[in-house]
This record gives sequence, structure tokens and C-alpha cells, in this order.
Amino acid sequence: MRIAGSVEPPLLPIIDTGIRHVASDVDDDLDDEEEELELVLFQGATNGAEPDLRQNARLVEAGLVPAKRLVTDGISRRAETIVVEPKGQAARIKLEVDGIPYPGGRLPQRGALAVTQMLKLLSGLEPKERKRPQRGGLKAEYEDKPYTVSVATDPIAGGAERLTIRILDHAVKLGKPDEIGLSNEVRDRVRALTNENGFVLACGAPHSGVTTTLLGGVLGSVDAYIYSVVSLTDTGGRDILGVAKYDGNPDDDVDTKCARIIRAENDVILVDPIKDGETFQAYAKHAEDLVIIGEFAARDTASGLAQLVQWSSPEVVCEKVRGLVSQRLIRRLCTKCKFAYRPHPKLLAKVGLPSDTKVLYKPPPPPAEDEEEEAECRRCGGLDYYGRVGMFEVLRMSDAVKEAVRAGGDAAAIRAAMKKDGQPSLQQDGVRLVAEGVTSLEEVQRVFKPAGPKKKKRRRPSP
Ligand SMILES: [Zn+2]
Repeated sequence: MRIAGSVEPPLLPIIDTGIRHVASDVDDDLDDEEEELELVLFQGATNGAEPDLRQNARLVEAGLVPAKRLVTDGISRRAETIVVEPKGQAARIKLEVDGIPYPGGRLPQRGALAVTQMLKLLSGLEPKERKRPQRGGLKAEYEDKPYTVSVATDPIAGGAERLTIRILDHAVKLGKPDEIGLSNEVRDRVRALTNENGFVLACGAPHSGVTTTLLGGVLGSVDAYIYSVVSLTDTGGRDILGVAKYDGNPDDDVDTKCARIIRAENDVILVDPIKDGETFQAYAKHAEDLVIIGEFAARDTASGLAQLVQWSSPEVVCEKVRGLVSQRLIRRLCTKCKFAYRPHPKLLAKVGLPSDTKVLYKPPPPPAEDEEEEAECRRCGGLDYYGRVGMFEVLRMSDAVKEAVRAGGDAAAIRAAMKKDGQPSLQQDGVRLVAEGVTSLEEVQRVFKPAGPKKKKRRRPSP
């Protein structure tokens, strides 16, 4: 369903969006570019509903283009989330880009209502129902790339509704190891883990959405030329990296599945997220014959390993686990506007970088008072960062780690053993990204600081 083909209704302009490269407040000499501006294509509700657009002609006229503009704006600014929150005569738009909240402009109240109802209609929800929360979504395409746009509405005070849009970019769902930031060195260490039968598990915070990417990184590190991989889990209906699907009955139990796979001389299996000790132990019985790749919820590798010990026993963990991988995302400095500086030797020593490091990068200094807003970088829109990359930590079951596990070690003892071994921590991988000019020390500090999200500060010289 291509709604783009319908009669173009008059525009309800989004006001005060603060967007440099999309909205109508671009420079005069950019008019050509503006006219070529492409709007997102909506391609049908994810629940399969077919909304009657003719029946809702007035809503379509008032809401379709503004809804497209809002979503286009979000996608082109790389927002994961767009929230439209009515307040007084206008509705505030809040964006989340790379995990950081930003103001996204405002919509007149009438426009916000039309956009909200329109997106509900397109998502196969009830446009007029405003008293109960609704959840839906639609398929979309922008610049030839597919997206899934989830739409949630929640009633708030005064009979209004909050609209929450989440944009899922399929292109980044399962990246290759180098695309998601795995250095060659980390990839080699992950690959070494998968060269021997046993568990190689990814751990991440629950519902963080990064575990899929991480799984892509771990799975992508398996040497596909040597090993054959079978998936026992739903990989979102897509073929990934030459992974075969389990050809038996999906309802088979773990023992039946593993026996069948081993008979077919497959080497590596990808399993559903492991949620309990029972499942972990069921797979552990076959860990001597297979490489078992999966994920489970844990804050980092050391606490993950402690969790596995609780789920089974020190012996099972020492014998069957080859290693764990965890990931955390960090923002990349914008390559266009990042600012080179010569680091002080004391700073280098403090963060553990080589003393001969000549240059590091940080966000550009804030514009001087007399500078025009146009001085803002057009690539990142003045956000200083563009996209995120993973920092990785690989726990190898070394002798020191096994010793800590057998001693009934908790996460702290396991971490100490890793350190003793010289196994690099997540922070150290972050510092590696600083040394490579990918991110800044400020960003590493922000990520590892145990505080809530902070708004970007635009420091200006005091008068
Ligand atoms: Zn920039």
C-alpha cells in the first residue's frame, strides 16, 4: 500500500522544528535541496489492518503530510524515539538521538491531534479512541531503506494524548562485526572462543535492544568457512550470515534438537535467549559436542558469569563455558566537526593511553557570541556526535577466572581475576575508541558515570 500516491493535501507546517537540514528554515541558497526533500513512504500497518483512507478523507487531508514530516524529521535526524506531548496551546516534540534526549520543536495543538489520529489510523488503531492506551505500528520506507515505526498513544491529563513513535532501522539490526564496532583484536578473541565446543554467550542489560546487535557480532565472528551454524531461534524471519534453520519440529525439546543437530554434523547452534538455570543446564549437557551461542540478561561479563554459577555449579561453568561477551553503546564523534587537540601527558597517564599519543578529539568548542547559528555543523546538526558504536568486553575462561569461580567467586572476584590476566575491560575498550579518534574522553566519562541522562550544554562565553 503506497499512500504517497494519494492526492497531496495542503500542508500543515510544523513550526519551530529547529531542524537545519529538513525544515523550511534552511538558507535561501538551499531551496533546490529543499524541493528535492523526500518524505517517508508509509506502507501499511504491521497488524495487517487496511485503514479506509477515503472514509477518513478529512483526517488524511489534515494529518497525512504532517505525520510524514514528523517521521521523516525523526528518521533524518536519526532519532530512535519521537514523543509528541500536548501542553497548553501547542504540543512539544521530544526526540531521542543516540540515547540522548533533545527538544524537537513544537506542533500547534490542532496539528498534533491530526498527526496523532493519522498515525493511529495508519497503524490500524482506533483514531477516535483517546481514553485508553493503544499500541500499533506501520511499515515505512525512506531513501530506499525499510523501517518499522511503532506507534503508541497514552491518555494524559485534560483528555489529551501523548504520542510515542519508535523508529526501528532494519539496516542496523544485525550488523557485521566491523560495522558494530568490534575491533579486529576483539573479533579475533571472540573467534578464538568459538573454536572450541562450549558456551559462548552474549550478555547485556535486559530490553536494552543491543543484544541483537551483539549477537550479530558474536555470530559474525564465527568462522563461517569452517563451521556450519544452525539457528534454533527466530532471527526475525531473515537469513543471517549463512545460518541454517533447524529443520526438525520446533516443539522438540532441547535434547532432541541437539541430538539431531549433532547427527547432521553441525558445529554451532544459536539458541533462544537463556532465561533460567533449567534451560542453561539442558544445553550444558550438549556443550561438549557443540558451540552454543546465545544471550542472557546480565550487566556485564563478570556478573554474567556469577549468574551462570548460580544457575548451575562452579564445575559446570568451568567445564562448559568458553567465554562471555558484553557490549555497551557509546556515541561516535561527528567526523565532520570533531576537534583535534594535543593531550596533556598527565591526562594520557591518567586514562592509560601511550605517552606518545599526539592527538585526541573532542566536540568542537561552542560558537562565539557573534557567530551565526549557521556555523553549526550540517552533518550532525550541532549534536557533535553521529551514531553509536559498541564497546566490547570479552571474558575468557582463563585459569585465573576458573580459580575465582571454583573459590565460589562473586562478580568482583571474577573481575579481579580478569584484570590479573590482562583481559581488557569495557572502559579500556572505550579508551581504545578515544585513541582511535572515534569518540571523546568526555563521552567515555558520561557513559560510565552512574547518573541519569543529561541534557547537552551549550556553553557560551559569559558577557
Ligand atoms: Zn558535526
